[in-house]
Amino acid sequence: MKKTIISLVVLICVTHLNAQKADKFTKEKVAIDYINHSFGIYDKIQKSIWATPELGFLEEKSSAVHQKHLTENGFQVEKGVAGMPTAFIATYGSGSPVIGILAEFDALSGLSQDTVPYRKALIEGGNGHGCGHQLLGTGSVAGAVAIKKWLEASHTKGTIKVFGTPAEEGGGGKVFFAQAGLFNGIDIVLDWHPSDRNAVNTKTSLARISITYHFTGKAAHAAGNPEKGRSALDGVEAMNQMVNALREHIPSDARIHYVITNGGGLSPNVVPAEAEVSYYVRAKNIEELFDILTRVDNAADGAALGTGTQVIKNRLGGAIYPVLLNKPFTKLIQKNLERIGGIEWNEQELAFAKEIANSTNTQPEELEKVKTVEPYNESTFGQILPSSTDVADVSWNVPVGSFGTVTFIPGSPGHSWQNVAAGGTTIGTKGVLAAAKVFALTAIDLFTTPALLESIKAEFNNLRGKDYKYTPIVPDKGPELDYRIKK
Ligand SMILES: [Zn+2]
Ligand SMILES: [Zn+2]
Repeated sequence: MKKTIISLVVLICVTHLNAQKADKFTKEKVAIDYINHSFGIYDKIQKSIWATPELGFLEEKSSAVHQKHLTENGFQVEKGVAGMPTAFIATYGSGSPVIGILAEFDALSGLSQDTVPYRKALIEGGNGHGCGHQLLGTGSVAGAVAIKKWLEASHTKGTIKVFGTPAEEGGGGKVFFAQAGLFNGIDIVLDWHPSDRNAVNTKTSLARISITYHFTGKAAHAAGNPEKGRSALDGVEAMNQMVNALREHIPSDARIHYVITNGGGLSPNVVPAEAEVSYYVRAKNIEELFDILTRVDNAADGAALGTGTQVIKNRLGGAIYPVLLNKPFTKLIQKNLERIGGIEWNEQELAFAKEIANSTNTQPEELEKVKTVEPYNESTFGQILPSSTDVADVSWNVPVGSFGTVTFIPGSPGHSWQNVAAGGTTIGTKGVLAAAKVFALTAIDLFTTPALLESIKAEFNNLRGKDYKYTPIVPDKGPELDYRIKK
């Protein structure tokens, strides 16, 4: 009798659990069906942003498109946050957990390109979405709306927030969200990036700081009174010379780049009184970053001393950390990427892709990868990608998980006309919908399985260390809102 009662209890419990599971999957369908039925909506949104590519902190139209769509779908939108007119936070729901999704929308200069598989600018020298941020923002917004539909249908308690983060390309928009404490109270943040493969992100990035060195000398007639002149351009050239010698003696994964933003005049017969050089320094951690930065600063001081000029150093705000990865979060995203699977292109899309692949000398068989999800590779976890992202600063404030879906043709370089072309077609939109589905499934897992969230948070706290406090790398500066405006 006792045995029968126990069996009965077990049976009831299992049935209850199965019912819960079935319920989760039925309701999950609400989110997935919404995305499947919304191809037209998100195709239109991504293409409208693609057609009006706006540079960092100038994304008025692009940001407004997302804000409008989120408002129409029941989100409360707060705009102009953290001192950035194009930044916003859109919120739906109440209580915890609070899940954030990052949305970017800035474009790049000089990459104007038509949706054709050969180089053809729409506007010569114009802007273009070479990093696919028109897709990035759209996929994040689509995912957030799908999650909202699920929260509503399942009567689940919890909050979803879209962080509309401007100026990823060099402006460090997310750093100012972090600086303003806007990630406080957020449990976890989901992120993605348009890609040429379907894969979870297992790689960290380089920390980065931007500095300008402004040299001042004395103008004089270059032939008549050269002894009275001190050339600011000499200062810049001497500095660059020293930094180029320094390159051999820094860690091999660090990077230093510069451009001369004020070349020191227009006439060779005038000793240049003003010249400016703008640097990026990148390194795998903050200690190395500051070590190299000090040596670059020393080169500037040495150059000024030797050329009889003065130098003013300006560390710009928006400097960024290396990404803090989170293994349990990565594994959760991998599971959901695999549930969604790869992407199928139709004949027209495939023909377009083959032509693009041809332009980058990519073997046609590489295109097969689009149909699959890359397996999770424990051995490459934590490797460094030699680039930087402001997502990193978010990742030191709250656990962040990131992935990519195929929106570009395999083999296309980053920031290329090929990516502008492919991203602006239905190839881009298909990647957007795949990303939105991964967001939806992952958020549903996090809302319904508290233990998952706990394990991700435990890993995060463990990696950051006890009493960790986030401080921006350049703490005393706000966003440089005109960094993309030609002065
Ligand atoms: Zn980029
Ligand atoms: Zn990007």
